Amino acid sequence: MPPLAPPARIRRDYDVQRRHLPRVQRCAQDLMRFASAAPESLTAELDRRLRSAFAECWNVPYYQDLFAARGYGRHDVRSLEDLASLPLLSRSSLARHWTQMLRADTGPGELCAVLSSGSTGEPLRVLKDGFDQVHMWACLRFWRRWLGLKGAPRVALLDSLPGGLEYEASLPLFHDGELRRISLVQERPLERLAEFAPSVVFTDPAGLHAALGACLPGVELWLSSAQYLPPDVRTAFAAPLINYYATTESGPIAWECLRETGRFHVMAPDVFVESAAGELVVTRLRESAFPLLRYQTGDQGVVGQGRCACGARGWWIEGFSGRRACWFRTPAGSRVDAWQLAWLFKQHTLREFRFTQVRGSCFVLELVEPREGPTLRHELDRALRALGWAQPEVQVRVGVTLPLMAKPQPFVCECP
Ligand SMILES: [Zn+2]
Repeated sequence: MPPLAPPARIRRDYDVQRRHLPRVQRCAQDLMRFASAAPESLTAELDRRLRSAFAECWNVPYYQDLFAARGYGRHDVRSLEDLASLPLLSRSSLARHWTQMLRADTGPGELCAVLSSGSTGEPLRVLKDGFDQVHMWACLRFWRRWLGLKGAPRVALLDSLPGGLEYEASLPLFHDGELRRISLVQERPLERLAEFAPSVVFTDPAGLHAALGACLPGVELWLSSAQYLPPDVRTAFAAPLINYYATTESGPIAWECLRETGRFHVMAPDVFVESAAGELVVTRLRESAFPLLRYQTGDQGVVGQGRCACGARGWWIEGFSGRRACWFRTPAGSRVDAWQLAWLFKQHTLREFRFTQVRGSCFVLELVEPREGPTLRHELDRALRALGWAQPEVQVRVGVTLPLMAKPQPFVCECP
């Protein structure tokens, strides 16, 4: 692999986002209010939000056609109880009709089209309005307040995307703090991360594994998303680690409880989640130029409700199985979290490879692409030795077709 150019000193100007500040503040307050209050006291507000989301859909060509074909009237949805009678929106419908799913009264101003990652199925395009693009700052303000954190607003994004893009910016929507994006594929990422001294780090399990070796005393909140998070990684950090569940299409949907592992608190009132035949279905209840009504996420889970030991009220998701855990077994008999190897595949999406422990020290790497990278086999060998295999044997097959699944399964263990 040729060495990457040194990280560019890009300074981004986010000042244009400042006009969203009142709404970001309101949104964070609403999330706080819904997490703290009994859900029965808030159903009237959710019903009102659903009515307004349904009204928005009548300005969207896709929904207009759909509702007209099914004979719906403009006032047919009065409360959340009516939601189940509305049609589901599948991923393939979204992929086919995304250009028809924008509210007709939306100006072109701040719209942007985003390609969702291949990690949740075939990549697809969605449109995001100005607020959709900054909504995460409202979520971060909520989590920080929920946990009573007050450190300096210095946010790092630590990622391992192949391009190695890095930049910095000031944050009008997060207490005028500082943002720095640091790439794990560039040189000395952890040194630069420590030098930046973040209080909040957004990353993923690969970033968390990498950050285990860094000295970051100022971090008061870690955030991870999109993949399975092993319990030992969660407990390896002194600061709380919020594992949130989001899709590119909908934004954040839920966050994993810090007390009850495996329970994800729903981000009401921004979204409402149903479980339809075991599949999680999301309706966006906050205003957006791209309304989402009963969107099928492809993730499995059961929706419950109550008062959690952590203090959060409202809806939660359990039995969540969007991200499959995989444990390899070392010759000495201990279990090793296979996702620790994910960073080696940073040049691939999860759909482009499969790494299987066939037995003992024998592994098979299947790649969709016709050639393997020059260093991958060597890096895998070194990583497996570090994890407990004295003489790993890795067989590589290139140009394979991997089975299409709702969720890709990049790591597999076939050992008994
Ligand atoms: Zn909880």
